[in-house]
Amino acid sequence: DLALENGPQTFSQTEQKFTKDPIMTERCKIMIVGGGIGGLTAAGLLLLAGHEVELFEQAPELGEVGAGIQVSANATHVLRQLGVLDRLAAVSVRPLRTEFRLHDTAEVVGQILLGDTHEDRFGAPYLHVYRPDILRVLEERVRELSPSAIHLNKALERYEEDDQGVTLRFADGTTARGDLLIGADGIKSVVRSQMHGFEPANFTGNVAWRGMIPADRLPADFQPPIFVNWMGPDKHMVVYWVNGGRLLNFVGCVEKPEWTQEGWAIKAPWDDLKTDFASFHRDVQTMIDAADKDNCFCWALNNRPRLKYWSTDRVTLLGDSAHPTLPYMAQGAVMAIEDAAVLMRALDECNGLGAALKTYEQARIDRTARIVDESTEHARLFHFQTHAEFREAFARKDPATDRGLWLYNYNPLTVSLAVAPA
Ligand code: FAD
Repeated sequence: DLALENGPQTFSQTEQKFTKDPIMTERCKIMIVGGGIGGLTAAGLLLLAGHEVELFEQAPELGEVGAGIQVSANATHVLRQLGVLDRLAAVSVRPLRTEFRLHDTAEVVGQILLGDTHEDRFGAPYLHVYRPDILRVLEERVRELSPSAIHLNKALERYEEDDQGVTLRFADGTTARGDLLIGADGIKSVVRSQMHGFEPANFTGNVAWRGMIPADRLPADFQPPIFVNWMGPDKHMVVYWVNGGRLLNFVGCVEKPEWTQEGWAIKAPWDDLKTDFASFHRDVQTMIDAADKDNCFCWALNNRPRLKYWSTDRVTLLGDSAHPTLPYMAQGAVMAIEDAAVLMRALDECNGLGAALKTYEQARIDRTARIVDESTEHARLFHFQTHAEFREAFARKDPATDRGLWLYNYNPLTVSLAVAPA
């Protein structure tokens, strides 16, 4: 079972404020726009809860880019509830620890134990996942629960909300109607733009290189199943195995003001990747040298303004559409998965759709805002200039707890758990 961060009292408080024209939430017809990790998780959970669900995805097929993703216990709890954790774990890697290394000497200045430590402490595993694997597992589960729930080639252009429901209008001229719309349509969300007006993104000046290297292109003992974070002046690179250890994933973040293109599939020259990380340790060079020179990608990292609200009476947002998050804490998709669990629970427990959406938003808005802010802050922490600054930051203790301050703040699970076993 799943608990809301603010406890059950939140439900009754918001119900009292939001009792206008209550719509029973049982057997709601729910329309989800966006078949990413957030939309598919929501679809599965809402089907399990007994709702009628239709998911509309603009692409001709569901598919993720060939990148990696880290999934911590706050999300793997939810995936267990959805009935997909074992399937996902079978094709993932369970890392033993995170190591924070100086970029050139490989000196380890800090570490977080994962593996059994993470699982014993939080009750669910930390996984390194190949994005196509998680999407496939989620899609399979949704189709098991409702073979006709997923509609492809459906690009939402706009929606119309009235007292009785919501109508979706797609680019192909077709429409759909239901009781509730969940906009899980990512960082360039149409639903968010319609709810709030278009607001331009602010470029952070940082880009994320990414690539994937088959294990057989690397020395046999290249890197054990750990997560290595190579940290240097103005740049860092994270490296971990996915896909059952068959693929090594790297994401290299660099301050690079001249590159402003945002998206997973934008290719950039391998030579620039090599130049950007030229000062890094020989292990990083081995990895870059083994990368497919025609398949290196570069993503401009943007911040977007925080939303004051996410929901109207019958429309709400979920995942990146509600709270786009920089990747520095590896929590963007994890927050989308948490959102889905909390929304399902709010619909289950609140009397009325409006009350449920309000409760969902209240339970999520502060936590996700904090994760967004802390993720942004971590860009600075990963990019100190000198070895001494890195060592000092990792050695600093919180006097109250005698715990490593930096590492303590780094792990969102130790700060708070929005979704915990009841
Ligand atoms: P998306 O995955 O963007 O899905 C949105 C879906 O909506 C897409 O399928 C899209 O085609 C569809 N869509 C869009 N518009 C329409 C429309 N008009 N009509 C119909 N369909 C539409 N997060 C982590 O938790 N761990 C990590 O390790 C991690 N690493 C990251 C590394 C990098 C470099 C980056 C950039 C991000 C990382 N993230 C990570 C963040 C994570 O990728 C996102 O937070 C997550 O994918 C958001 O999921 P979503 O379902 O909200 O949106």
